Amino acid sequence: MDSSFEDFCLSLPKIELHAHLNGSLSDKILPLLGCPYSDICNYQKLRNIPIGQRNLENVFKTFAIAHKATSSSQTVYLATLNLIKEFAADNVIYLELRTTPRNEEGMSAENYIESVIKAIQDSTNRILVKLILSLNRQHSLEECTNNLNLILKKQSEYPDIIKGIDLSGNPIHGSFHDLKHLFERGRNNNLFTTIHCGEVVNSKEIHEILEFRPERIGHACYLHPNYNGCIQNWNLLKELRLPTEICLTSNIVTGTVDIYENHHVQEWIKDNLPFSLNTDDKGIFNTSLSQEFQIAKKFFKFSAPDLWKISMNSIEDSFANAEEKIYLKMKLEDWKFKNYKFFSQ
Ligand SMILES: [Zn+2]
Repeated sequence: MDSSFEDFCLSLPKIELHAHLNGSLSDKILPLLGCPYSDICNYQKLRNIPIGQRNLENVFKTFAIAHKATSSSQTVYLATLNLIKEFAADNVIYLELRTTPRNEEGMSAENYIESVIKAIQDSTNRILVKLILSLNRQHSLEECTNNLNLILKKQSEYPDIIKGIDLSGNPIHGSFHDLKHLFERGRNNNLFTTIHCGEVVNSKEIHEILEFRPERIGHACYLHPNYNGCIQNWNLLKELRLPTEICLTSNIVTGTVDIYENHHVQEWIKDNLPFSLNTDDKGIFNTSLSQEFQIAKKFFKFSAPDLWKISMNSIEDSFANAEEKIYLKMKLEDWKFKNYKFFSQ
């Protein structure tokens, strides 16, 4: 990769719309949380296994270490604060963090949300941060209902920070169908919705998610007919133009895509459908948003103006309010004006 393009990707103001809090923690954050040395070494070892040699078992082990490291209000606060710093250092100017509220000994789910919000409020970096709270499809309907009740309560206290709800968790468990009414309730209470969609082959569920018309969908690995999806769903996506959160490295490491050259984003490019580039779990997958932009350029021949446009379009797809979108777009325009060298080659 030529160094001027690396500079471009790092310097470009970027928009991150799909980042899970716990999975995003780098090995540099773990010591700040008082994580045992042996866990840190293990974490580094697991995340440094070359792509192609990693498997789902490694990924789950890495997740477990990060999860264990954030089991008190103080560590959740510190993890969020330092994570925001890392995204800001990568020139991410707008970040939507997502996480599932959780109960631990000495920390209620409400404490958990409060700790994340306090870190967002205390963050002094020049980055705008919003929170998406997740319902986990592995949880029971009762747990998800309680979770949504809590989310709605906290949203009424922090409407400028809590912007949306997400459906996440292991896609082989649970179903969107059983939780759809909760997403309808969230929507009726002014929460935006984004749904992890098509992480496994399941055209029936993908159809139901598209019909629900969330503001965005995540991954969409098995939606296009060339990728074990079906033409009806692809046509519906083309008609609805729901923005898709693309996570290149995540899909490679978890094995939904074998090599970057075969990534399903090609179909979005061919049909000119809206998408954003994201990290998903930058800590687990040992990546950064700048790196994802470099990968996009390398494998899909994006030019500097193309990548700038992806950032610009992602602002429109974000859950920021109208005023914040204008501010972010101005920042991006201003950066282009000052960095014209990248656009004149
Ligand atoms: Zn995700």
